[in-house]
Amino acid sequence: MITITTHQGKQVEIVLESELCSPVDMGERVRAYCHIHGSDHQRSLSINKATGWGHCFNAVCGATVLVVEWNRGLAKRLLQSYYRGLTSAALPDYVPPVQGARYRPYVVQPMLLPPPRSIPQWQQDELHALCELDGQMRCALVYTRHARMYLSERGIPLKVALATGVGYLPSELLNGREMRKQRGLLRRWTDRIVFPLNSPDGRGYIGRSLWHWQPGMNETTHKALLERPASPKRWIKTCPAGWFSAGFEDISRTVVLVEGAFDRLTLLAAGFSSNDIIALVGTAAPVDWLPAQVKTVVLALDGDEGGQEASSRLADQLALAGLQVKLCPLGQDSWGKDWNERWQRMGRRSVASVFEAFYEARSA
Ligand SMILES: [Zn+2]
Repeated sequence: MITITTHQGKQVEIVLESELCSPVDMGERVRAYCHIHGSDHQRSLSINKATGWGHCFNAVCGATVLVVEWNRGLAKRLLQSYYRGLTSAALPDYVPPVQGARYRPYVVQPMLLPPPRSIPQWQQDELHALCELDGQMRCALVYTRHARMYLSERGIPLKVALATGVGYLPSELLNGREMRKQRGLLRRWTDRIVFPLNSPDGRGYIGRSLWHWQPGMNETTHKALLERPASPKRWIKTCPAGWFSAGFEDISRTVVLVEGAFDRLTLLAAGFSSNDIIALVGTAAPVDWLPAQVKTVVLALDGDEGGQEASSRLADQLALAGLQVKLCPLGQDSWGKDWNERWQRMGRRSVASVFEAFYEARSA
């Protein structure tokens, strides 16, 4: 490993493939334990095979790496210009010459994680198109009355939604000539509240349909409407998807895990910091994803059978990974099946148990 500083002052660790610690091929990316900060319980290093660039998503480390074999030309240029600046003397050619076109990384370790899944082109295009509209979708949430009313009826202040990057995609946004290409890709995302997601493999989105929702219509009625044949899906996701959470490096030492995007917004509306709450939004693999600074996890999943089952399974996995776990089950009564529903009916009282569990866990 060679640490260089670029002209822009950025520090880059130039590493050899053989230095990667227990790498696992994940399709477009390779994940490895980070030998730079010495992590041995999660593969925080994520490297793009096509470009050789990678990043450690551990908050304290945050290293930028370039794997020599996967981008020989660039590694050579970086090293040469660095050494020229450093010594002004010609140094021997450290990097072997380029051999043919793209180099296929050689990953020796057995597969410990799910097998690689290549992302179809249309899904890559879809994600790219959504990322480009991110700012416009947030503006649209502010100027679209229908979307604002929906949030308001679920008890979520607009400013809480905006602060977490939530937006709305109105169909008019796709009408312009310049949107011709994106129109087909994003049609299924129109009339949806759109939540940004985080994953070690980058940004994603999940969208909740407001199709045929009318002010005064409750969740159960709207859900039933969306479950009829030929209705749009209630939720759709990009690939990769991820967690509706703060960036991994900002996640608190003690975190609360909830199931739904609206559960997270509910707890933020009640006064939690955005770094304290992670919404799984149907994404598993939390143990592998939790950044190293997290020490305690409060599980506040839904009270139904599925939620209880998920809670006990997760609690076991988290405890095995050395984390402190505290359960905060949802009340088994008629006040509502998730935090948001209870919040609408009971107000602040509905989340008192989460605050209690969180402060207890944090001071333990
Ligand atoms: Zn690291």
